[in-house]
Amino acid sequence: MSDFPPYPSGLRLAGRKVVVVGGGHVAQRRVPALLAVGAVVEVVSPVVTPAIEGLVGSGEVGWHERGFEEGDLDGAWYVIAATDVTDVNEAVSRAAEERRIFCVRSDDATRASAWTPAVGRHAGVTVAVLGNRQPQRSAAVRDEIVSALRDGVIDADAHRDRSPGVVLVGGGPGDPELVTVAARRALTEADVVVADRLAPRELLSELSPDVELIDVAKLPRGRSASQEEINRVIVARALEGKRVVRFKGGDPFVFGRGYEEAIACAEAGVPCTVVPGVTSAISVPAAVGIPVTHRGVAHEFTVVSGHVPPDHDTSLVDWDALARMRGTVVLLMAVQNLPAIAARLVAGGRPPSTPVAVVAEGTMPGERTVLSTLETVAEDIAREQVRPPAIVVVGDVVAVGNPERYRWRG
Ligand code: SAH
Repeated sequence: MSDFPPYPSGLRLAGRKVVVVGGGHVAQRRVPALLAVGAVVEVVSPVVTPAIEGLVGSGEVGWHERGFEEGDLDGAWYVIAATDVTDVNEAVSRAAEERRIFCVRSDDATRASAWTPAVGRHAGVTVAVLGNRQPQRSAAVRDEIVSALRDGVIDADAHRDRSPGVVLVGGGPGDPELVTVAARRALTEADVVVADRLAPRELLSELSPDVELIDVAKLPRGRSASQEEINRVIVARALEGKRVVRFKGGDPFVFGRGYEEAIACAEAGVPCTVVPGVTSAISVPAAVGIPVTHRGVAHEFTVVSGHVPPDHDTSLVDWDALARMRGTVVLLMAVQNLPAIAARLVAGGRPPSTPVAVVAEGTMPGERTVLSTLETVAEDIAREQVRPPAIVVVGDVVAVGNPERYRWRG
């Protein structure tokens, strides 16, 4: 059409009809991005990929199961011609041109009235790069910009949310690569960070020097008293007008006492939000190759605290039910009570040969896995001197993940 550069514009497509002609892999890549901005997407194609069919099935996308007709564009704001037949794409872009609807073409950008940029988002900023019809170059530039924003090389400080309150942030199992983008962002926005022993500590070295860092491991007094102290500190700092990140291991609401902190905030009238995290209960087994579910092996998994011994009055766990069911049991905080727990599961009906994996310091430099069975795990962890933090996985999925280890054990 012309050699002029494109005029960039941020289309606000929420509630507006967008037609995608074609149902192959190009369409499949474009549709989720359109749905993410709220567009009303209609796909026109005799056949679609299973992924698109899934979106049709769930009602997220409309599907006209046939070839393109000009009337398909009636009422549309934006069109994507993404078939692999040039003549069809040509007919679509011609019909769009007549109706003055901007049209992207997957086959020949020179004949399109709109181009799709490489897009990235960070901290509420959308980055769109148009690399003069060189998609790989656009994507590379986009990646550079987004990672520079994320790492603070490009300072988006002016856009940070600095409103007072508490953010409960899940830090994942320990490897700093396994924190979420939202967690990283929350850390860059913090005035105060209150960090757990199990939160990924490398990330704290990236905090700017003016951020106050409170190390929970160093707070005074015993276990439950220090939880009260944590509640007191986060509330007090927020009431001083600070933005407080409570940085926790795994997910904040999986045995992390996170909700006690949320309640303390609510009682003090302090705004509190949550950034979910990758829980160690699932990710630590995964990191050592153990799936918590596997088709035909385990169709359920239960995450259990082993903090209280199984025969103790205050145990809220139904150990008999756990022993009776067939699925995977994932135990947290269970190293100390593991001999009693293993015995209890066997007494309740689990075969003594049931495979067990104990993973200490999962995803961290000191990671160590001890493979055992319910019958032998007490002596195995004693001999191997396993120390917390550790995840214990009980069930046949352990053998799926480590077939060679279990074959010779029978
Ligand atoms: N909220 C956390 C769990 C807090 S309870 C989460 O969702 O992961 C603390 C227990 O988590 C530890 O005793 C241990 O059982 C487990 N845990 C946390 N991180 C771990 C890791 N990297 N490796 C092994 N176990 C871990």
